[in-house]
Amino acid sequence: MKYVSTRGNAPELSFADAMLTGLARDGGLYVPAQIPTISADEIRALQGLSYEETAFRVMQPFVGESFDDDELRGCIERAYAGFGHNARAPMVQLAPNHFLLELFHGPTLAFKDFAMQMIGQLFQVELTKRQERVTIVGATSGDTGSAAIEAFKGLDAVDVFILYPHGRVSEVQRRQMTTPPESNVHALAMDGHFDDCQARLKDMFNHFEFRDGVKLAGVNSINWARVLVQVVYYFTAAASLGAPDRKISFTVPTGNFGDIFAGYIAKQMGLPIDRLIVATNQNDILHRCLSTGAYQKGEVAPSISPSMDIQVSSNFERALYFAYDRDGTAVAQLMDELGNGGFDVSQGALQALREHFDSGRVSEEETLEFIAEANATMGELLCPHSAIAAKIGEETRDPSTPMISLATAHPAKFPDAVEKASGIRPPLPNRMADLYERSERVTQVPNDLTALETLIQERIAT
Ligand SMILES: *Cc1c(COP(=O)(O)O)cnc(C)c1O
Repeated sequence: MKYVSTRGNAPELSFADAMLTGLARDGGLYVPAQIPTISADEIRALQGLSYEETAFRVMQPFVGESFDDDELRGCIERAYAGFGHNARAPMVQLAPNHFLLELFHGPTLAFKDFAMQMIGQLFQVELTKRQERVTIVGATSGDTGSAAIEAFKGLDAVDVFILYPHGRVSEVQRRQMTTPPESNVHALAMDGHFDDCQARLKDMFNHFEFRDGVKLAGVNSINWARVLVQVVYYFTAAASLGAPDRKISFTVPTGNFGDIFAGYIAKQMGLPIDRLIVATNQNDILHRCLSTGAYQKGEVAPSISPSMDIQVSSNFERALYFAYDRDGTAVAQLMDELGNGGFDVSQGALQALREHFDSGRVSEEETLEFIAEANATMGELLCPHSAIAAKIGEETRDPSTPMISLATAHPAKFPDAVEKASGIRPPLPNRMADLYERSERVTQVPNDLTALETLIQERIAT
């Protein structure tokens, strides 16, 4: 299996190289040159299997030449062993024909653990084979950083540095980043906003001498391996409701389009998905684009569902690539126009997108109202992101096709919003109830490239 860039102008890579590279050299995102298919009989055979066995069967065709079967199975076992639920991605029922897929039983209580835990293991196996070490640097507004630290802590082929804006992440998020004691993970509290953290990260990647010197690697949401890992739970969920013999729809709380794009890949593989519904908060560039065809940048308006507060949606480029019939030149041109504020999707491409995707937007007030309503009438305390999906899922479900709404974080990760909406302060699960007692380890850093680079070089030398 080869991987090609969405902008059509970068070398084709193997799965392992695409994973270690992240962003393609032409600025594009890697996608499979062909999408492997899975037959109806093979989908039927998934019913009743463990999450791990399904993960192996779904991912194997994509990674086969980079990882042999034993390596892949070993990575999957280790990745999910620390989850707090044996089903890994269990489902509960919200209403007739409406189900909630709980993706928050991982170590940091958000769905990003699924992909991050798995790529931690894949990086470790691949780098050990190559006898290499890399330095992962990430910028986070909260969830990604803690998921990366949990996934890579204690692995000896990587050092991980996470930049977060000092004083601007929730206490749970901060403690999840600062309490792991392993010496290869480093939480850096930077002066400034999330945008400043992202800008310094970008500076480091553009400073080639530093980049090559420390073997810089990225694990942000454009990494193809993260998308692939998320394809698995579309299969486990659909098979448990009777796929391939009935169609299933999904509603997905969406920011950077990585999670819902995994659903699109599942559908291309042959999973009978009816609708994929993009659920956004007030930062609704995707809802506007799917409604009107105009993809126009705006200002980020901070919300109570902060993991969906985006200005542009990086993985949407992958959907455009397929909507434009794999025309990398056309995609590169759109991305140029985006530099000047935005672009219009062609009629043909818009039609192609609408064949698979619907969309909806939920305001702040509606989100709070729905958290209260779901608690009162569905017996579920939802985090704000999950509530946005479940509200749209509830409004658009029809009696003939089961609707699955994705719950992307545990309510205890966003206790203030949940308490404001429902009057209930959700407790942390038992396995992390002592989070507030664990000791913290964090380095405060200035918003200064040279100081950051020096600190990273010193830390990895010891
Ligand atoms: C990252 C995140 C999302 C958005 O997922 P994308 O793949 O970026 O669309 C939604 N909810 C939560 C809790 C998240 O952490």
